[in-house]
Amino acid sequence: MTETLPHFIGGETVTRAGGRSVPVYDPATGVVTKSVGLADGSLVSEAVASAAAAFPGWAATPAHLRARVLFKFRELVVRDEDRLAAIITSEHGKVISDAKGELLRGLEVVEFACGIPQMLKGEYSEGVGRNIDAVSIRQPLGVVAGITPFNFPAMVPMWMFPVALACGNSFILKPSERDPSLAVELAKLLKEAGLPDGVFTVVHGDKDAVDALLDDPRIEAISFVGSTPIAAYIHQRGTAKGKRVQALGGAKNHMIVMPDADMDQAVDALMGAGYGSAGERCMAISVAVPVGAETADRLVEALAPRVRALKIGPGSDDGNDMGPLVTGAHRDKVRGYVDLGIEEGAELVVDGRDLKLQGYEEGFFLGGCLFDHVTSDMRIYREEIFGPVLSVVRAGSFEEAIGLVNDHEYGNGTAIFTRDGRTAQDFLNRVKVGMIGVNVPIPVPMAFHSFGGWKRSLFGEHHMHGPEGVRFYTRYKTATMRWPTGPSTGADFIMPTQT
Ligand code: NAD
Repeated sequence: MTETLPHFIGGETVTRAGGRSVPVYDPATGVVTKSVGLADGSLVSEAVASAAAAFPGWAATPAHLRARVLFKFRELVVRDEDRLAAIITSEHGKVISDAKGELLRGLEVVEFACGIPQMLKGEYSEGVGRNIDAVSIRQPLGVVAGITPFNFPAMVPMWMFPVALACGNSFILKPSERDPSLAVELAKLLKEAGLPDGVFTVVHGDKDAVDALLDDPRIEAISFVGSTPIAAYIHQRGTAKGKRVQALGGAKNHMIVMPDADMDQAVDALMGAGYGSAGERCMAISVAVPVGAETADRLVEALAPRVRALKIGPGSDDGNDMGPLVTGAHRDKVRGYVDLGIEEGAELVVDGRDLKLQGYEEGFFLGGCLFDHVTSDMRIYREEIFGPVLSVVRAGSFEEAIGLVNDHEYGNGTAIFTRDGRTAQDFLNRVKVGMIGVNVPIPVPMAFHSFGGWKRSLFGEHHMHGPEGVRFYTRYKTATMRWPTGPSTGADFIMPTQT
């Protein structure tokens, strides 16, 4: 009998007998380590009731005291870093140091959220009329929910809840059912840090739980990160129910390599950004666009031996460059794309499909794959693969390269490698993408900026964390206040003006 992972509702772990559940795997061994129960509508409703009951007290807690809980939470995550990283690796498969990296990027959002009193300071205008002052404030929304993907079980929830909580909201997290354990650990640490019961809730589940969250009128806002079809669905259904929705979707991130780029730096960047975390990053580079035939030949020649030499093994061994994929089904899907690329006529320069690791024969491993001569009509170019597969699309000119980026349906991240400032500036100005790197391959914005793509990589108006996060999780209110000094001067039937 494997352990069943509990939900976390009202400050307590909660398990429900019966009901649907799914297995959770150790991707390195392929062994089922536990199961996770999938919440139905009635459990979601219970969770929302608990979050709604906790909201008024938390919203009334002064912002600096809310921040103090987050300060403490940060200390606890640092204290437990090794344990938390091991949990991430055991369910996601990524290498331990990479798991620690995602924890740190999440903690940076906590650090940003600790400054919430400064960010919630309102605006006051004295004397907007005679004896009239105006004040604008930001207030929390109420109960908000976050629905997160498998690939960053720590960082993506932490893009959302630190800011939501700091602003005074109650937060319900529906993590990925593929690596759900970390969410419960974070909930326990928030409780240990002093967060009142019910302010942070975890419900596990799939579409049923998500639909219940989308339809519940007590939930004011939904933050989503995941694949584009689901992001579009969440945005459409959530906004139809009158909710504020930010839904971040998939990606196909291009890295342009100009003829004047430092080739060693470009190759190192492509290795890390293409194959780190087995390519399961929304900011992974999946398309390299060398400009000019000579640049392309030099790039592929330098990349191929590096891809063949990737150190692949269990994520628990920090000496590895990348671990397994998250599940057998996902590994098979990615491998299917490699088969498809060959059928479509791309040249498979490095074939990682038959990788077998001694002692880990049942693990969900796939070797690094490198395609050359990929063209823009191929499905392996148009669709997100989300695995260790890098496609080289050769461009004849800078204009052709920027055209590829701008014509793609996704617009999450992109990078250019060049020594020429004018080219970089031109790229930055004209590219239709949300996050741009200049000689930086994975330009994930810092916590005090905001994260989000363009086109079908983001549905909704707000990016995540940073100033956009504060705007998303608060509602703006403006008051005009008159302090009369004498008797009433009578009714005035024209639009109030100041003359
Ligand atoms: P996914 O879309 O399969 O799942 C995301 C969440 O949606 C999970 O919690 C899942 O339980 C839920 N879900 C799945 N199917 C659903 C349905 N039919 N109805 C309602 N909810 C449903 O994504 P994933 O495979 O877990 O994560 C990988 C994807 O996430 C990739 O496409 C990647 O690009 C994307 N991603 C994007 C960003 C970004 O910032 N844009 C960041 C990380 C990941």
